[in-house]
Amino acid sequence: MNEYDSSKMADLMDEYKGYTLTDDAAEADVLLLNTCSIREKAQEKVFHQLGRWKKLKDKNPNLIIGVGGCVASQEGKMIKERAQCVDIIFGPQTLHRLPEMIDQVKQGGKAVIDISFPEIEKFDRLPEPRADGPTAFVSIMEGCSKYCSFCVVPYTRGEEVSRPVDDVILEVAQLAEQGVREVNLLGQNVNAFRGATHDDDICTFAELLRYIAAIDGIDRVRFTTSHPIEFSQDIIDVYEDTPELVSFVHLPVQSGSDHILTQMKRGHMAIEYKSIIRRLRKARPDIQISSDFIIGFPGESKQDFADTMKLIEDVAFDHSFSFIYSARPGTPAADLPDDVTLAEKKERLAILQERITQQAMRYSRQMLGTVQRILVEGPSVKNPMELRGRTETSRVVNFSADPKHIGSFVDVEIVDVYANSLRGTFVRGEDEMDLRRSLRPSDIVLQHKKDDELGVTQYTP
Ligand code: SAH
Repeated sequence: MNEYDSSKMADLMDEYKGYTLTDDAAEADVLLLNTCSIREKAQEKVFHQLGRWKKLKDKNPNLIIGVGGCVASQEGKMIKERAQCVDIIFGPQTLHRLPEMIDQVKQGGKAVIDISFPEIEKFDRLPEPRADGPTAFVSIMEGCSKYCSFCVVPYTRGEEVSRPVDDVILEVAQLAEQGVREVNLLGQNVNAFRGATHDDDICTFAELLRYIAAIDGIDRVRFTTSHPIEFSQDIIDVYEDTPELVSFVHLPVQSGSDHILTQMKRGHMAIEYKSIIRRLRKARPDIQISSDFIIGFPGESKQDFADTMKLIEDVAFDHSFSFIYSARPGTPAADLPDDVTLAEKKERLAILQERITQQAMRYSRQMLGTVQRILVEGPSVKNPMELRGRTETSRVVNFSADPKHIGSFVDVEIVDVYANSLRGTFVRGEDEMDLRRSLRPSDIVLQHKKDDELGVTQYTP
């Protein structure tokens, strides 16, 4: 989400102000800091960075410094009080006003603060999307109306607002024309999408997925993030008949304990989460699931943690994200008594992360010897003579092949497995694929075998 907002800021500055990006802060005329306040650590980093930028401003008084994103949204003018060097404070919903704000600072020299939530105006004012490689993010909705007790998002990004469906489709079509093959539909809860249609109707997320998948050139559709309470059957049904939709879902659960889920105000129990996964696996047997977990939520007992570990066993998650709970000012959970020590929380986090890593590694090993279809994104990071692509489950594969394949799909045989990537050998390029439209030809079979070394029992749907 933040990456997407940052890239839009860069596009805006280029299109309306002629600024280009630089890697060297010392030569910049404008420095913009896009911030995140989801956990305390992220928030503290902001002021450290501003401390470093202050030195640049001392040398160059014309330098304009802006702070955007969720910390700006939450702290507003407090930022200026703590860091005098800041000229512009803007929120996630006002980033499109940056060009005007820069003009205002240049004219008046006074700090400009705009952290309002002007509904969907942002998207109407952003320049046309520019493709940067074969994959692209497309924001479909903003904000969150779930008010989970731990989470700051509804307060910093506002409530859920969906973009009109025609705008989303046009943006994807424009990207497809520029060679984009894979889109990642973005939003805090994409499955809460209810986009207005041109004839005053409402388009659901399931319908949107089908529309996007039908756009010429788009062969892979992903989405982040979805919420369990709106993961309805009509979305699951799309997995049955829409091969463009990848066999991978990131569905945050946060905890496997019903007691903690209730305290978090997630709106569902562990069994309902498992029911979604069971139905997803029925619709798409090879689907992989990843998730987010919060460890050490106030009052999390040993039994609550054991329930989370049990859910991890039952679902057999692929690589996931996990965090120690961080009390966020203004959220209801921040007032709950918290009697679990930090040492205990760290220990629980380590246990959970080790288990998830084992499971992800097992899935990677199951790919050994199989042919996987990957979208080639560019040269490999470590060895620019090689290429790098991603599997449907977002694993990076490095392999040797002609650079002409960049931007298209290739089949590779997986020959080695590492902690963060796979190694493949080239099998065929897109020109040699007979099933152009299908991303799941019969030779791409995941070998489900029991991994005795890890003692992991295979999950059977
Ligand atoms: N909309 C998604 C969450 C997006 S925020 C959902 O409702 O599931 C990304 C992740 O940050 C969350 O899934 C959660 O695991 C983590 N997170 C959010 N607030 C947090 C907090 N106060 N402390 C620790 N982790 C938090």
